[in-house]
Amino acid sequence: MVIVLDRNINDKEKESIRSFLEGKGFKIREIVGEEETIFGAVGMAAVDHREVELLPGVKRVIPISSPYKLASREFRKDDTVVDLGPVKIGGRRVVVIAGPCAVESRAQILEAAELVREAGAVILRGGAYKPRTSPYAFQGLGEEGLRHLKEAGEKFGMPVVSEIVTTEHVDLLKDYVDIFQIGARNMQNFELLKKVGAMKKPVLLKRGLAATIQDLLMSAEYLLAHGAEDVILCERGIRTFETATRNTLDLSAIPVVRKLSHLPVFVDPSHATGLREKVPPMALAAVAAGAHGITVEVHPDPEKALSDGAQSLYPEQFRKLMRDIEAMAPVIEKEMARLPSIAKPRAAAAGKKTGRAAAARAAAAIVAFQGERGSFSEKAIALYFHEEVEPLAVPEFRDIFEAVLAGRARYGMVPVENSLSGSIHQNYDLLLQFPDTAIVGEKKIRIVHNLIGTKDSAIEDVRRVYSHPQGLAQCEKFLEAYPAWEKISYYDTAGSAAHVAEAGLKENAAIASEEAAAIYGLKILKPGVETNPQNYTRFVIIARTGGKGGGELKAEEANRVSIVFATLDKPGALFFALEVLARRSLNMTKLESRPIPGKPWEYMFYLDLALPPDRAAFAEALEELKKHTEDLRVLGIYKA
Ligand code: PEP
Ligand code: MN
Repeated sequence: MVIVLDRNINDKEKESIRSFLEGKGFKIREIVGEEETIFGAVGMAAVDHREVELLPGVKRVIPISSPYKLASREFRKDDTVVDLGPVKIGGRRVVVIAGPCAVESRAQILEAAELVREAGAVILRGGAYKPRTSPYAFQGLGEEGLRHLKEAGEKFGMPVVSEIVTTEHVDLLKDYVDIFQIGARNMQNFELLKKVGAMKKPVLLKRGLAATIQDLLMSAEYLLAHGAEDVILCERGIRTFETATRNTLDLSAIPVVRKLSHLPVFVDPSHATGLREKVPPMALAAVAAGAHGITVEVHPDPEKALSDGAQSLYPEQFRKLMRDIEAMAPVIEKEMARLPSIAKPRAAAAGKKTGRAAAARAAAAIVAFQGERGSFSEKAIALYFHEEVEPLAVPEFRDIFEAVLAGRARYGMVPVENSLSGSIHQNYDLLLQFPDTAIVGEKKIRIVHNLIGTKDSAIEDVRRVYSHPQGLAQCEKFLEAYPAWEKISYYDTAGSAAHVAEAGLKENAAIASEEAAAIYGLKILKPGVETNPQNYTRFVIIARTGGKGGGELKAEEANRVSIVFATLDKPGALFFALEVLARRSLNMTKLESRPIPGKPWEYMFYLDLALPPDRAAFAEALEELKKHTEDLRVLGIYKA
């Protein structure tokens, strides 16, 4: 059962509730949430709930009806996020675990680690103890394999996962792996589950060949009941009458498990299909269906693999798959999990220290955005900076630049373009007016609008809809179906949600983000009401130039440059400027013109270019461009 505690409970009351329940034979797990603190009480004991409800400090008691308790959604409403330091599993980031089926040699795992890391995987896999159907098949390198795996993980700054097959190996594996894997064949090895659970380390628990979803969750319960907190469930195909693939991938397990449990869900498309050509489509389908990540077998030379070669991806196939997932992620409002740049793998390995120091620096960073809490700008900040910075809401766009310049914020998140409504000209003008700021990064996010009302309202109650004019315009088709509703323009989408919450009237609704609904305690009356789902906003991240305070982001990966200039007042001026770029095969991705204030009929041109690898040649091009233009300024070189 779940015991929700009173907000102002004191320590004495808490302790007496705990000892009452422990006295009855329950094990207690305390979870401190943002809104409430709860005790989860599990065990074989029975107690009358009313008796618990009467204890001082208890707000209410909720029985958990499912046979698994700690694993259930009833026990914990919010998703569990497993924190591995540089990688978080279970949030809005798609986590890719990759590597060979088995560690075959030091050279093989080092090569595999480098290639999967370069392609964007964030966790390295490799079996050292292999549960093989045939006793004559390669059984793994044992401890030697674990040593090589750990070395490869450290060299490339990747956490590692490897399978445990017997209780005897628990102490051995714990020093080598960041995540214990429990394989399909051992999913119901309950003694193993108990021992591994007691290590309190993250566990990747794979679904058994003939296990139901409930069986899987009961096995997770074993791990949790014995001390583990971070269990990642993994669908890897089940046995059916179908023989075309090695197993049958049960994709529907993803939404089913996500509803029943708060634990993260992964998919293993390699063991599910057994055939490499089937792996990428199933991997994409898994991510689209809501999996928090995938685990994929990749081998530098699959033909020579000692196990599971037929299902191991070629390096090139894996690189393509990673690009495809990256392209798809924003559509489902997700993004790829990333490790810090690979440019200096030694530094990354030399310490989780490096990672932690970087995280600490980022944590100290404040990022200014225009609008209210719950705005799309704030969402862009969360997605770009991995929730490790502090957002600072300011009323106007200009205030973002001022906050950055004055050092009140290290970065600013500035929207510059929407895929439906075009450029946000005011911000182009501000980029020009604040020459001591520069663009240091870019983020594109999908804009999904929702009709949001008070908790007790239904769509039939709505009489009035508030939103930013763009929000209203972008949901025109939906709103046409409700001609009687009064549409009221508001300065901000999130602000309109705040207003609806404050007024507390059933007849008021707002059009805003899902995050705004959660922040202001409102209910989504209808999700996804935007007319065109291809609705994206592009933001640039600005920082102060020179000196301290600013800071380049992902500088080694820079691939875009934004410049601005005015043309000379003579025929063909723009043509000659662009000709410089064309002659040097510089690819222009955007061109925008803006009137120059105070100079009627004269224009500034904003250009985005793909940054060529040869920086020296690019610098020359800029010099030449200066001869054909006036006031040329580089607004920023950054990773797009
Ligand atoms: C593996 O991941 O290498 C493995 C053996 O998987 P499963 O337990 O799912 O068969
Ligand atoms: Mn395998």
